[in-house]
Parts: sequence; C-alpha cells; structure tokens
Amino acid sequence: MSVRFTTLGTGTISLPPARSCAGYLLDAGELRLLVDCGSGITRRLAEQGLPWQTITHVAITHFHIDHHGDLPSLVFAWKYGFLPARTLPVEIIGPVGTAALLARLAAAYGDWLTSPGFPLTVREIAPEAAIELPGGVRLTCFPVPHTPESVAYSMERGGRRIVYTGDTGPSDALATWARGCDLLVCECSLPAEMQIPEHLTPEQCGDLAAAAAPKHLALTHFYPPVEQVDIPALVAVRYAGAVTLAHDGWYFDIEES
Ligand SMILES: [Zn+2]
Ligand SMILES: [Zn+2]
Repeated sequence: MSVRFTTLGTGTISLPPARSCAGYLLDAGELRLLVDCGSGITRRLAEQGLPWQTITHVAITHFHIDHHGDLPSLVFAWKYGFLPARTLPVEIIGPVGTAALLARLAAAYGDWLTSPGFPLTVREIAPEAAIELPGGVRLTCFPVPHTPESVAYSMERGGRRIVYTGDTGPSDALATWARGCDLLVCECSLPAEMQIPEHLTPEQCGDLAAAAAPKHLALTHFYPPVEQVDIPALVAVRYAGAVTLAHDGWYFDIEES
C-alpha cells in the first residue's frame, strides 16, 4: 500500500510558464485530497489525466489567491463539467475564516458556489487540531508565520507522514512539529538577497530541514529569482538528506510501513 502526493503547482503568482500557482493532490485509498487550489490547478489536473471529478476534499492553507484562486472554477466544473451530474459530496477544509471567505465568493459569483447541487460542506480546523479523513488519513494543521490564518498541514497514514508547509517564514516550532516526517514539502520562495519574514530562502529551507530531519525534502513555491541560484548546493550546506526540486506534475509515492 502506498499514498501518492502529486505536486500539481510549484510556482507563484509570478506565473512562470512551467509552474502553476500552489496545488497538490494526495491520493490515499478512498481519499482524494486537493491541498491548495491556486490559479492553473484545474488545468494541471486535466493535463495530468487525473480524475478531478472525484476529488473528495479540498484543504487550503491560507487565503492568498495563489492558493485558492481556482477553487470557484473547480466547483463550477464539478457542477456543470460532466454528466451525469456530480452527487459525490465534497468537503472544503481550511483555517478559521474559510467559511466566511467562501460566503464572500458566493456573494460575488452566486449561490452555486456553496450550494452546487451536491453536498458541499466547509470544515474549519483549529491550529494543531487533528481530523480523521476517509482512507485512514489523519490531517493536522499547525500555525505558520505568513498571514494570521496560515497553516501547514500534516497528512498521516499507515505510519507514514507527509508535511506541507504552505507559505511560511522561518519557524523553529514548525521544524519541531514536522520532525521525522517521511516527506517535507517546503516552500522555497526567494533568494537570500530578497529575504522577507513571510517566506523562506534556500538557506532557511536547509536550516528547517536540518532541524526537522525528514526522510526526503521536496522544495516548491519558487519565485523566478530563486531559480537563478544553486538551490541544492545552498541547502546541502545545512541539510545532508535527499532533496528534490519539485516540478508541476511530479509525484511522490510513499510506501506504508
Ligand atoms: Zn501566501
Ligand atoms: Zn503563495
């Protein structure tokens, strides 16, 4: 048995042609969990031949539009994109404020967004709370320094654990929380000369990974300037483990113990 974590969108709102905004898909048995749904993710799902029609859950890390901009399009596609019409329920998970965000979007676009004709529920998850999802997956979130609501997510099943940082600045608490995970999917936004408190540089990713000691480090959420530096070399000075620079359409299979 294994779970598959697909990196659908590894870019930012800088819109480099090869990288969509943030979006990841966890396939774990009956659970099909989309984590973040930024601009371009509906297109990436289709390009990859992934059955987007049967996604069961969507979890968003924070309310920046590069992490949820395609969510209304995805709900619209579930409502009008195929026949027979969808009856499968979907649950939208996010930090406190997610329901209000969807209500505002529905006020702009129409009631179909929150009442699409199939069951759509919103579940707000408190920081550090854990919820049990279908497929035997435990989803936990942890607050990170980016925007007030921002969280990282942990997805655990069968003794294996994937942690996705979402957008974050440096955080010792995040490193402690992620410690020992099998796959750490970590944002790597900016080179050191453009460092800001709300994002990570390759050096800071290396420090985070050194403290968290994941079995595998996957970097993502690249602004174009950070791709001009030697990211693996900068990380390797601080963290000796395996590093992958994620691409759109890449995936990781995590074998269960
Ligand atoms: Zn953000
Ligand atoms: Zn972002």
